[in-house]
Amino acid sequence: MYRGRFAPSPTGPLHFGSLVAALAGYLDARAAGGEWLVRMEDLDAPRTVPGADAGILRTLERFGFEWNGPVIYQSRRSEAYRTALGRLTQASVAYPCSCSRRETPGGVYPGTCRGGVRDPGKPQAWRVRVKDVAVTFEDRLLGPQRQNLARDAGDFVVLRADGLFAYQLAVVVDDAVQGIDNVVRGADLLDSTPRQIWLQELLGLSRPRYLHVPVVTNEAGEKLSKQTFAPPLNPDEPTTELRRALRFLGQPEPTGATAPEIMRAAIANWNPAAIPRLMGACPA
Ligand code: GLU
Repeated sequence: MYRGRFAPSPTGPLHFGSLVAALAGYLDARAAGGEWLVRMEDLDAPRTVPGADAGILRTLERFGFEWNGPVIYQSRRSEAYRTALGRLTQASVAYPCSCSRRETPGGVYPGTCRGGVRDPGKPQAWRVRVKDVAVTFEDRLLGPQRQNLARDAGDFVVLRADGLFAYQLAVVVDDAVQGIDNVVRGADLLDSTPRQIWLQELLGLSRPRYLHVPVVTNEAGEKLSKQTFAPPLNPDEPTTELRRALRFLGQPEPTGATAPEIMRAAIANWNPAAIPRLMGACPA
């Protein structure tokens, strides 16, 4: 059984980049006769905008997306993340760390607190140990991928010093609990995937298949996001936006005048092999 998901962070309205990720995942799931779930990644309370979740769901509906089951919220799932961290700690693969970002040159943590917290008076994060080995996986679009976690990431944070669980841990726990066996998302997360695979292995969880779609950029070549002031999707123009997203994904022009009709045609036509492999600017 194919089961996929869309996992937006409710930090604002959906933009064209989020539509592309949602659409690719939705079409891939439905074309396989599978299920498609929505999960709100609202772990980072300070960045969460009240009402953004409802706005996202309303937009998805207007665009003709239909999801299976209830929408789960990461902000209500701390117990599950704590249990997972407990298992890592028990297996001695996680350890507390008092180092700040400044002590992580080039983003790769040198392992300062591996043998014991350096400054017990400071707030502590929890990190997971990595090994000097290559993690490899096959991306369905981009082909074979490999990353050496010790060299490229270092021991990484699973619980932040401010008490918030890290995305890397939450996403792995939730994908497993929800039975997700296919992850389709933006290529900006490609270099997170080896860390997630590492956690799946440490926690004895199965590995989904991965498909990373190109990131949508603005004219300055920046990823569309709230930080780069990406304009929100126009909820009154679902058919225009859907056609644009399909074009971006290299899919044939769909027939149909309404969003549900376009969706039906796009599912029938879905061809993941036609997705471009490079980053792409937002088509007009
Ligand atoms: N919440 C993440 C985002 O909005 C997506 C996580 C994922 O798809 O794994 O960028």
